[in-house]
Amino acid sequence: MKTLPLAPPATRAAPRHHRRCECDRDTLQTPWKAQMCQILHTRDQEAARALLDDFLLENEAEIARVIRRAQRIAHLDYRDKDTALSYFGQALMKMVDTRWRAKTGTGTSQVFNYSRNLPVILEQETRYFVREDRRRGLLDGTAGVPGDSAHDRKAKALARSRQLFEREHSRTPADEELVEFHNARMRATRKDPVRQSVLVTAEDLRSLTAVPLQDPNLTSEPRLVSEDTPDLGLPERQQRLDAVIAECERKDEERRLARRRALKREPVQMATVARIYLADHAQGDLATRQEIIDKLDVTERASQREVGSHLKEIMTLLRTAFWSYGLS
Ligand SMILES: [Zn+2]
Repeated sequence: MKTLPLAPPATRAAPRHHRRCECDRDTLQTPWKAQMCQILHTRDQEAARALLDDFLLENEAEIARVIRRAQRIAHLDYRDKDTALSYFGQALMKMVDTRWRAKTGTGTSQVFNYSRNLPVILEQETRYFVREDRRRGLLDGTAGVPGDSAHDRKAKALARSRQLFEREHSRTPADEELVEFHNARMRATRKDPVRQSVLVTAEDLRSLTAVPLQDPNLTSEPRLVSEDTPDLGLPERQQRLDAVIAECERKDEERRLARRRALKREPVQMATVARIYLADHAQGDLATRQEIIDKLDVTERASQREVGSHLKEIMTLLRTAFWSYGLS
């Protein structure tokens, strides 16, 4: 149900509004508006569906841009295009069905008629759905909501540990080794591994490894397909760590300003300690106090003590930053 333009369009294949268009005149030329107007006014469901498909195809590049922006702002794994696209799809369907279609069933709502920046609206809605899933623990697998099986979460995290162990040692771990390696990794990288039920015992191993990594219940709903490894939660974690480091910098500056006299020695910067401490967190590793001292090459007792006290304060900041991590 495509209408041919009566006059040659000014731009390449400029889409036209539906003949029953009620859009506000000022919004007629705004992006995606004409196509969406056509879709909303089309009564035949099949035809509307086809128009929607055309819309997705024809605007592929711009939609990809919207998705990339949503991914970046929502700190989604940028490689995971399918998840991001399905969030966009979810957002689009919600807007079409509940906000833009007239309440009476056909035609457009007043909300639609006056909307002028559909890409931005869709981007915001996409991020809303990402946020909702994250809040419910469906995205990074850190919360124990009904339907989110702790068993699967544990199995996936364990599979990841096995992979990391094999990469590191170039061999298959013995059961006890895997348990030890895995639990150490979970304690190092998760705020509350007990509460998240990701710690394992030797007994767990048999039952857990028998579980396929991809839960068939999840694959039926594409938006829920996400790997429950720390990697996907990583952008979120990174964001909080960055905030902690920024706070350390602020405190360093505060200390510098509060100092009445110049120190004889170079003060140890808290932010530097934080950066070294967290450098390998993605691999599940946190530096020890001694490693930090070695790395900084500080030999003076006072400086070494400073590393210790900075570290203590950093831990407090981390606890605060990750307090809600794994809760909610
Ligand atoms: Zn219109």
